[in-house]
Amino acid sequence: MTARLNDDVDTIRQQDLRHHFHPFTDFSTFKEAGSMVFTGAEGAHLTDGEGRRYLDGIGGLWCVNIGYGRDEMAEAMAAQARRMVYYSSFGHHTSVPAAQLAAKLAELAPGTLNHVFYGSGGSMANDTAVRMIHFYFNRLGRPAKKKIITRHDGYHGSTYLTMSMTGVAFDHIGFDLVAEGLIHRVSSPNTYRRPEGMTEAEFLEALVDEFRGKIEELGPENVAAFFAEPIQGAGGVIVPPPGYHGRMAAVCRDHGVLYVADEVVTAFGRLGHFFASESVFGMVPDMITTAKGLSSAYAPLAATILTDEIYDVLSEPQAEGAMFTHGFTYSGHPVCCAAGLKNIEIMEREDLCGHVRDLGPYFETRLAGLADLPLVGDVRGSHFMLCVENVANKQTKALLDPGLAIGRRIAAECQARGVLVRPIAHLNVLSPPLTLTRPQVDELVDVLGASIRAVADGLAREGVRLN
Ligand code: PLP
Repeated sequence: MTARLNDDVDTIRQQDLRHHFHPFTDFSTFKEAGSMVFTGAEGAHLTDGEGRRYLDGIGGLWCVNIGYGRDEMAEAMAAQARRMVYYSSFGHHTSVPAAQLAAKLAELAPGTLNHVFYGSGGSMANDTAVRMIHFYFNRLGRPAKKKIITRHDGYHGSTYLTMSMTGVAFDHIGFDLVAEGLIHRVSSPNTYRRPEGMTEAEFLEALVDEFRGKIEELGPENVAAFFAEPIQGAGGVIVPPPGYHGRMAAVCRDHGVLYVADEVVTAFGRLGHFFASESVFGMVPDMITTAKGLSSAYAPLAATILTDEIYDVLSEPQAEGAMFTHGFTYSGHPVCCAAGLKNIEIMEREDLCGHVRDLGPYFETRLAGLADLPLVGDVRGSHFMLCVENVANKQTKALLDPGLAIGRRIAAECQARGVLVRPIAHLNVLSPPLTLTRPQVDELVDVLGASIRAVADGLAREGVRLN
């Protein structure tokens, strides 16, 4: 069996190289190295075509929250596929899991966030939020109120609009942005790289002032919404200074601007709660967008969740013959919603949020122990959403030459030791399944530490100066 698999793996690798156009890929290396072919997964481990096992420190892509290989999930999805694989949810039709999951999400979400619009991924959830917000202000007779404010280092997706909302400069290289004049950005709340000599408290005041100033410059009558991740993920696991979200929400309220919490990563247990906005950051937004952990990636599923107040405006009957013309073939797909329901049932039954709340502080402390290693400028994040920032000089925080691909080198060392961590430019990000045990947390951190040491030694041999 294994021998046959090995033969097949070469064929698969060739097929992949020739015909599979990969997302978010550096083709200079891809065309030489091709893909690592994964053939199996169980618990927190993946297996490659050669039979090697890896501890998944990435959770797929911040998403396999309940871990791999859950029979219950496969059975719930198969049962729904047999019973009724699909019918459109456009107009007056629904399915049992779409209705039940919406009710469950309304129960879990804070405040009056009681209305769920389904999509298939986080980008779609954010794109939907923008269309809904524009429609909302049109319906209120305020058609000028359209501008969207996002943040540098914020990531909101990869559709044309959501990538234009994204503030990760690296993601824009060589591409165009759309909606010129529609999207405006304010600073990332990155405390590690805050201006020299500023305390965290002063930094918070500066961020709030900048935000208020931006709304006033654009005119509150023109600004519709602020989109923010509770902790910025792909932009570098950036935890804002304490009190940030509450203060930003207050500025939004003062100016009639809606607050959209992009909880594509932070929801479904990664920070120890089903939703982080209220439970972790003490703030109830006007909308929450989410995906990933909602189904733990067993099926593509996303949700845009909105308040009673917004729903009432959006659902107000229009002129005869007009309707709310937004939706996707797979909005509320019954098999995906069945996966979402079963995923939440498992999370509740196993108290995975409680597990993350218990183990998260240990994980943070263990990772913080890497701060003294060469290369490590900052260790940050919260619970099961963590990151190490690698620098050339710890005092000045200067970065290494991007050509050294430091994040990737460290990730490759980890991979050789049987652990997967995510490289994002000069960072290494950890977002494992929430089921990780304490010994697995130890393994992850120990391997990352050993890999950083090995890469630092290698750089020293190459004559690269580290301070
Ligand atoms: N929003 C955030 C915060 C994300 O991290 C991501 C993806 O990583 C997205 C949106 C986009 O989600 P998707 O890739 O499912 O479209």
